[in-house]
Amino acid sequence: MSIWTKQGSLAEKFWQHGNAGFPIYDMHGHMGSHNAIYFKRAEAAEMVAHLLRAGIRRLVFSHHHVLFSAAFRNQQVWEICRSFPDTLRMYVGINPHYPEIIKEDLAQFEQWRPYAVGLKILAGYHLINVTDQRYEYALQFANERRLPVLFHTWGGRGGYNDGPSMLTLAQKYPGITFFIGHSLFGDWEYTEKIIKETPDNCYLELTAIPGELGYIERMVELVGSTRIIYGTDMPWFDEFQGLGGVLSAKISDTDIKNILCDNVERLLGQDW
Ligand SMILES: [Zn+2]
Repeated sequence: MSIWTKQGSLAEKFWQHGNAGFPIYDMHGHMGSHNAIYFKRAEAAEMVAHLLRAGIRRLVFSHHHVLFSAAFRNQQVWEICRSFPDTLRMYVGINPHYPEIIKEDLAQFEQWRPYAVGLKILAGYHLINVTDQRYEYALQFANERRLPVLFHTWGGRGGYNDGPSMLTLAQKYPGITFFIGHSLFGDWEYTEKIIKETPDNCYLELTAIPGELGYIERMVELVGSTRIIYGTDMPWFDEFQGLGGVLSAKISDTDIKNILCDNVERLLGQDW
């Protein structure tokens, strides 16, 4: 037991028993191989085994092959989810370069529930801006049905400054629940603005943040723990690294539970 772990805390409970005593929701995952990296586990069965080891109740993911190729389709991802109904849920991956596929897939969205939870938009990787009209069909669709949409976002200069466009979108589509992937990493001005200047429809998602000392504390201070959700980008990052970062953050146990569990249950309920 670390001398820094508070007695009776959630962190202590987790280190001792391997679970926090409540369900944990990882709202940002992927699946499948990727040309940029070797993954220890990237297929459904081995990923699910690892999720269960870490006490994750649900992983909501988008498949790499859907995002980066037209040959693999969301329908196949739905089939994968059906094989692991207790653990896997999907974001329908949106590739803006294939408008016909977007229409075909979204026409099936209702049939893919409850496995399909929302949409995933990866504008930076597809080399267009998130405000580009090629996203409009999908965003309107999500707006009308009040769906969550997970966006890959990043802060900083150059092509990775997503704050201003995300703010514009979140104001334009109040029906969408915006999951701000990577929390506009490092852009503190817009991290605060996106929560305070939008109609309660934005949540900061933590992927890549738990590895940075002091970031979670600062986010909780800026916007409060009820507007932050947990995610890992699994298999890019490991569940235990993500959970360790959240459990070790110098925030209250109520804040930790909000981030890992309660905010998602408040949004989506317990039965999804
Ligand atoms: Zn991702």
